[in-house]
Amino acid sequence: MKIYGLNKTTLLDYPGRVAATIFLGGCNFRCPFCQNSSLVLNPSSQPELSVTEVLSFLKKRQGILEGVCVTGGEPTLSPDLPEFLAEIRALGYPVKLDTNGTRPDLLKELAGEGLIQMAAVDIKACPDNYPSLCGLLHPDLDAIKETVDFLINGTLDYEFRTTVVKELHSEQDFVAIGKWLSGAKAYYLQAYRDSEEVLQPGFSSFSYKELEHFRQILMQTIPLVELRGID
Ligand code: SF4
Repeated sequence: MKIYGLNKTTLLDYPGRVAATIFLGGCNFRCPFCQNSSLVLNPSSQPELSVTEVLSFLKKRQGILEGVCVTGGEPTLSPDLPEFLAEIRALGYPVKLDTNGTRPDLLKELAGEGLIQMAAVDIKACPDNYPSLCGLLHPDLDAIKETVDFLINGTLDYEFRTTVVKELHSEQDFVAIGKWLSGAKAYYLQAYRDSEEVLQPGFSSFSYKELEHFRQILMQTIPLVELRGID
């Protein structure tokens, strides 16, 4: 297990909980707006933390932290993920896993074994627009749809979320996503933010008014749709 980052305290990453966030490296997507380009393109260039160090930190924070978020990159690509999550669970922490939804079998296994208590799944775009957003010509949309179905029809707590990029999304995305995610319990639109770590610089965000318009479209089929990261 290679760990490339630890945010020791966050109120933002695990809804309703004071949490720590652990960053794993590598990804099977190349989203041009990705904010973690070093972790995706060249994780071995990043300083590494040992599992022992991270678990020891979590042990010391028992009773203070209320959860652990495991993110990436794409954490489901790390081969020792189940064993690592089991060690976090043994310390009593609920775990939220951030994923792009491309490994539904593993997600089901982790949920079935009680190794995760919540999943946050990125919905990059409507299915037709996925290639532009995930940077692959032929993404495995069947896998992502399987993940979505599993969460909508299952018992694992979850949220869907989309980072909305002015140059890459249009109203049509949100009309189609509304149909696709119909029945989902929660969906968040996150305004794109520029940073030095962006994989392909030069993108911008929609205005608050435009994002609110997309939210209204989505509210026709999804009961809870909220905007995040709006100034
Ligand atoms: S945004 Fe997420 S899924 Fe896309 S390349 Fe970055 S880490 Fe991978």
